[in-house]
Order: sequence, then structure tokens, then C-alpha cells
Amino acid sequence: MKAAVLTGVQSIELKEIEEPKMPEGGLLIKVETCAICGTDVKMHRYGYAAALLPLVPGHELAGTVDRSGAAESGFKPGDRVTMNPNIPCGECYYCRRGMQTACDNLRIVGVHRDGGFARYVAVPSLAVKQGCVLRIPDGVAYEEAALIDPASCAINAGELSNVKPGDTVVVIGAGPAGCLNAEVCKAFGAGRVIIVQRSAARLKQSEFTGADLYVNSSQEDPVKRVTEETGGRGADVVIVACASVEAQEQAIRMVAKRGAVNLFGGLPKGSPSIQFDSNLVHYKESFVTGTHGGSNRHCELALSMIASGKIKAKEYVSFQLGLSEFHRGLKLAEDKQGLKVFIRPA
Ligand SMILES: [Zn+2]
Ligand SMILES: [Zn+2]
Repeated sequence: MKAAVLTGVQSIELKEIEEPKMPEGGLLIKVETCAICGTDVKMHRYGYAAALLPLVPGHELAGTVDRSGAAESGFKPGDRVTMNPNIPCGECYYCRRGMQTACDNLRIVGVHRDGGFARYVAVPSLAVKQGCVLRIPDGVAYEEAALIDPASCAINAGELSNVKPGDTVVVIGAGPAGCLNAEVCKAFGAGRVIIVQRSAARLKQSEFTGADLYVNSSQEDPVKRVTEETGGRGADVVIVACASVEAQEQAIRMVAKRGAVNLFGGLPKGSPSIQFDSNLVHYKESFVTGTHGGSNRHCELALSMIASGKIKAKEYVSFQLGLSEFHRGLKLAEDKQGLKVFIRPA
């Protein structure tokens, strides 16, 4: 089968590889669509220590069950499915306490094993047993369902930063992650959502989220503006959905007393340090949290929010390309064109 194969830093080749065998007790899924994620862009640009090369990347996928070795799970050929690519072990200290995203032995489809930029993807029995594979409800398109991974992260962030009804939430960054966080916070009952973003085009593009205020941080100081907008208090929750030192530092300054900052976007490996006045955290009694993934529970919730329209998943589908156009898709994603690029390997 034709696949996009990561063979090294800045090297992804389109080539013929052997079709995966159906794993014992698992599933073989025919991939209908797989979105290019920021992680795929990063893996291509800088390499990724955890990735086992050669690797077929792609973890935001949806498709149909082609063959099922997991009859007792109820999955049968033809079922429309999507999956949480983060497979927890189910046995470690954190899994036993229900904290799947903290699993010590997390195995990620498209990182530790071949993913969705190919005609077929093999899903191991552990993933089926742990509940990583989800049926797509009628009326939800494959592209929409493939959004559960980033959407589940946003739901996890909303929970970890304790977004409550009536809260003022600032989301810094208006890429796909920022838009999802804005939509999720609205659904959590946030009274006011403020999106902060440097690029005017990206800011405009995020208007479908229904946020209440859009602040262009290349034209005004977002800390000053948010402080003014909240009567000097600051925001109850600030979610930093971009990879920016400056934005993380601003977040700590613009959060209210007892408020929470969520570091949703990771900083580049070589420069992950930020500077801030720790007395701000001390006197404001504020919380600093982080988020990097979602559990199966978050994925189920994400799928229902997509099905009910609380997350307007169609808005994220900016490009749909065939596998032969993978490199063009990668370039579009690297250049931050639109929100999401989907590859249809069929
Ligand atoms: Zn992703
Ligand atoms: Zn575990």
C-alpha cells in the first residue's frame, strides 16, 4: 500500500510498504481521513525522540473497520470508527487512578507505531480493550470525527484549569487548538471568552467560535487589555494554546487571583524556559497547569460535543487532499494555512 513514511529529520517519503497484518484481538482499519497535526509538523522538522523510524505518522484518524479480530468488542467490518491515538497501559500507578494521560507506558498511534497516513492502520487489542476505538455517530463525517484527539485535549484543559460557569477565559493563540479551547470553554459555561492572537487573518478566522472579544496582540498589549476588560481583576482562566515564551509569561501576568493558567502548547525542546515574577503566583494564589492529551473519557465527550454541534467540527476542515499530495499538505500545515489539513489515503 502507498504510505507517507518518516525516515528521518526533514524526510518523509511517499512509498509502497507492506499492508499491516491484523493484530491478534485487534482491528484493521481502512483509513478514510487523517489530519495533519502540529506534532506531525514538529516530527518532520525537528525529529522526535520517541518516534521509532521508519514510521507512518498520523494520529488524528477516522475510517471503517476492514477486519476485526475483536468480535467480543462488537466491532465488525464496515463499522465507522475513530480513535484516541493515546493507548494507556491500564495497569500503571496513574492508569489505576484513572489518569490515563499520565500513563507511564503510553503508546501513541502515529508516534510509537504506524499511524494513519496510509490506506490501512493496525489497531492493537490493548487499544480496543481500553476503549480507545469509538463508533462514529450517524450524521458525523469522518473529518469531523477525526477531530476528537485535539478536542479531547481541550476538554482536559478545561477540566484541569477548572473552567466554571460565568468565568472569563482568555485563550492565547487562534490556531485549531485555540479555537477548540474557545469552543469547549463556551460549552463549559464560560461567561466571556477572549481570544488573543498576533495575526489578524488568524484572528478573523477564529470568529466562528463565538468568542466574545478578539484581541490582536501585535497591535495592543494583551495583558493591559485583559486587565481593563475585567475591571482590573484579570481573567479567571488563561489557556496558552501556542508555543510562545512571551504568551506563557503574559498569561501568568493576566490571570486573576486564584485563577488558573493552562500551558496547552509545549515550547520547543531546546528553549523551554520562561521568566516570571514568582511573587505574582505567590500573592495571587494562582494555579499553573499543563495539558498534553486526552483520555478515552475526554474523547467520548469530544465526539458527543462534535455530534451535537457544540464543537463546530466542519469549520476546521480547511483542506482535503489525497495521499499523493501529502507534501503539499505538510507545507500548508507548516505555513499555518487555514485550520486543518486532512489527508484522504483511499
Ligand atoms: Zn494531534
Ligand atoms: Zn498506564
